[in-house]
Amino acid sequence: MNSTTEKIFVCGAGIAGMFSAYYLKKSNPNLDIVLIDKSDSVGGLLKSFQYENYGIFDVGIHTLYQTGIDQIDEVVLGVLEQEEWSELPGDIGGTYVNGILQTGSPYIDLRNIETNEKPIWLGELLEAAVVENDESDNALEYLVNHFGNSLATKVMAPILEKVFKTKASELNTMAVKLLPMNRIVAFDDLPMQDLMLSSKIRSRVAIPNQRNLKEEYKSNKKGFYPKKLGLGFYVKAFMDDFLKMGGHIWTNSQIAKINISSNEICSLNVIKNNEEFTVENVKGLCWGAGLPVLSWVLDPGFTKELNFDPPLKNAIVNVVTSKNVDRFKDLQYVYVLDGGYSIFRVAIYKNYCPNMDNELNKISLEILYLKDEEEGLEDKILQEMINIGIVDCKNDLSFFQLEKLTAGVPRPTQKNISSIRDIRNNISAKKINNLICVGSLAEDNLYFQSDILKDALKKLKHFANI
Ligand SMILES: Cc1cc2nc3c(=O)[nH]c(=O)nc-3n(C[C@H](O)[C@H](O)[C@H](O)COP(=O)(O)OP(=O)(O)OC[C@H]3O[C@@H](n4cnc5c(N)ncnc54)[C@H](O)[C@@H]3O)c2cc1C
Repeated sequence: MNSTTEKIFVCGAGIAGMFSAYYLKKSNPNLDIVLIDKSDSVGGLLKSFQYENYGIFDVGIHTLYQTGIDQIDEVVLGVLEQEEWSELPGDIGGTYVNGILQTGSPYIDLRNIETNEKPIWLGELLEAAVVENDESDNALEYLVNHFGNSLATKVMAPILEKVFKTKASELNTMAVKLLPMNRIVAFDDLPMQDLMLSSKIRSRVAIPNQRNLKEEYKSNKKGFYPKKLGLGFYVKAFMDDFLKMGGHIWTNSQIAKINISSNEICSLNVIKNNEEFTVENVKGLCWGAGLPVLSWVLDPGFTKELNFDPPLKNAIVNVVTSKNVDRFKDLQYVYVLDGGYSIFRVAIYKNYCPNMDNELNKISLEILYLKDEEEGLEDKILQEMINIGIVDCKNDLSFFQLEKLTAGVPRPTQKNISSIRDIRNNISAKKINNLICVGSLAEDNLYFQSDILKDALKKLKHFANI
């Protein structure tokens, strides 16, 4: 495909790619921007499922938070009119742990654990707060430094090991940040209100009821979810605006080869609908489809030598229950941290989409599992739902649909994080002037949407002037 107009390609149409493509086009309408994705639709993890009788469900819970940076918030939240958003009353989460549904806090509540060792645990916790050591090589060390030895090894590490199916000493510190495990609940509300005065305590001990958190400690970044259920509608509105500005979207498309001359990408071999062709006049490439894929395209020999722990398989189970979900109170989500469970998180739609247009009790379950746990998975999930109290029996379910996602969840192991770092270093050693990498894990610790958007903006500002 020859064209005289210079094109910028954005590869991967998740939140990172969509924002980048939109921002580039908006900043300079003369740029010819092509957003490509290998799947048959855009949106990445912000896609929705649609079922004939039960309507819309999302790929797990994804609410959108302000970043506090106008250039991002105006794009990401400006896609819908103000009245089309529900503003969330904070980030209200719970945890199912030790057979108990905690609705007060997403952090593990030590007050529910019966043991005569507790005075020792609390002593070590307070000592850790005083000593404060931020130098941690792996997740286990981080937990010991942050909470003291007993809590780290007896309470926290086994939970991390259960979720990521890897020893805590082999997990990167990032694993702790992916779960609500950087704090614990240890004291009742009254003493805690005083203890909160110490920033060292506040950084590791949580208030037992998140709804009583004083305004001064709350994040000033508001959370939003569209009033109309389904992020798929949001993605469509986002991309309609992009197309209206003159942007291009190619689905079922991948980059097979990146051709470089004098440290500049000059052309790309693209496979679109199974047909390979060369695109000349490429002004730049913004990569938002994961570093390992880019590494395979740029340097297959180097990538082959790298070692990765296999990703966890990921599925979403969408259910409608006849049983009322009031047990979850106003919780938007619940982490399931008990050993042996494949449910990782429960998303309760009516609590973050209160304007849902019908009365169905809709829930999505995010599932993490290993390949050899695939057999009998549906029955296992049903039993876990009964244990957690989502339903009493199978007959309480009017709808149950297991959706296996093609992309797994990379495990935050030391081996994986180190291989991603090697890839990053290898790519930057190539000094390709018109390439930027955005999105999940484009940098160390980059995972949550707000951080991804902030990182992308920083890189795009420079990139738009190439
Ligand atoms: C189940 C789950 C729940 C999460 N919940 C939250 C949350 O509540 N809050 C939060 O902040 N973060 C959450 N995260 C993390 C956050 O969703 C992600 O970090 C963020 O959405 C990733 O955006 P992205 O654009 O980098 O990637 P993605 O959304 O994964 O998009 C990548 C896109 O690249 C495409 N692609 C892949 N390979 C190629 C290729 N070879 N060629 C072309 N295209 C390709 C894919 O089809 C996809 O569309 C969650 C993650 C998961 C897995």
